Amino acid sequence: MANQEEPRMGTRAVWGGEEGPMWQGATQVPVVHSVSFGYADVDAWCAVAKGERPGHIYSRNSNPTVEVFEEKVRLLEGAAAATSFATGMAAISNTLFTLLSPGDRVVSIKDSYGGTSKLFIEFLPRFGIAATLCTTGDHDAIEAEVAQGCRVVYLESPTNPTLKIVDLARLCAAAHRVGALAVVDNTFATPINQNPLALGADLVLHSATKFLGGHADALGGVVCGGHELVERIYHFREINGATLDPMAAYLLLRGMKTLHLRVRQQNESALRIARFLQAQPQVAAVFYPGLESHEHHDIAARQMRGYGGVLSFMLKGGYDAVRAFLPRLRYAHLAANLGPVETVAGPPATTSHVECTPEERAALGIPEGLVRYSVGIEDTEDLLADLQEALAALS
Ligand SMILES: *Cc1c(COP(=O)(O)O)cnc(C)c1O
Repeated sequence: MANQEEPRMGTRAVWGGEEGPMWQGATQVPVVHSVSFGYADVDAWCAVAKGERPGHIYSRNSNPTVEVFEEKVRLLEGAAAATSFATGMAAISNTLFTLLSPGDRVVSIKDSYGGTSKLFIEFLPRFGIAATLCTTGDHDAIEAEVAQGCRVVYLESPTNPTLKIVDLARLCAAAHRVGALAVVDNTFATPINQNPLALGADLVLHSATKFLGGHADALGGVVCGGHELVERIYHFREINGATLDPMAAYLLLRGMKTLHLRVRQQNESALRIARFLQAQPQVAAVFYPGLESHEHHDIAARQMRGYGGVLSFMLKGGYDAVRAFLPRLRYAHLAANLGPVETVAGPPATTSHVECTPEERAALGIPEGLVRYSVGIEDTEDLLADLQEALAALS
């Protein structure tokens, strides 16, 4: 009986996509660097090319290592299909350019990832596609905007960098009432903490660069959903050419085997650190959905199994305090990244919203005095002591 059960998340992270026989009995996924795949028999070649038989033709389209990566994420998100990309932004832009046509409208939130906001503000309008960006926490306003009609509702939760929570079930239902597709960027939550497809989303996407890979050594992106939608996005990607490299796929796969362990530790540390920061006199505000004081803690508790490894906080003293504080951290890379095993910290101006001008950041409601803190898998006590020392130097 046990073998008939759906494997749980940790087992999916370890074994997902890797149960079949591999080359020469290898127990680890081989990195297939081959650009093309040869066939002695022309009829067999044709059958694969036409999609009548499984196999690979050319690595821009498909590759055995990359396919295992797609399969592992597909299983973690409980999706019918998945396709991968060179980066998270490639996943997002390929998805939007596949789904949208001139005259269409997309409804999204002001707190989308900086690069995504750029697509909405700078690139899509040039193709006659309008983007309406709503105030992130205002569910009534977003619902009213969606009810006006649109092709795509594009959501993210928790958001970057102020960790706002969007009610995914509610807004996916609103999208479906007007025949729109609901797309969710699940990068911050990870499939360990949240599965948007189970909440009604049509597509879920990730920057695999962040938590999925978890070691800050490979870029990648992925989209999961129903067969028909994912096939359309895959078709655009194979022509557009934003293909995931096999070596990157291997590194991401290797990282994903510990996804559940890392995220469990990061959830636990982030909550303790958020509670600690809340009690510090140098801290003006802490943003973390696991805090009972968070505006939408109830929604987060309903749709997430853990609250994730990213938090942010505002120091009294604004940007000057941030500049003095950050270099004092011993256990944090000051870098534009999140989700790896090491703690990473930085201000939005050089991380999530580096693509935006100060005016655009202000318009998006992102305070310049904010610190984004991505909790690694270090011992929580060491991170707490590190923060305490860096804060003490401010007063
Ligand atoms: C980093 C990030 C992206 C973009 O991913 P890249 O792999 O850097 O292209 C998209 N969405 C979110 C939420 C991110 O954090």
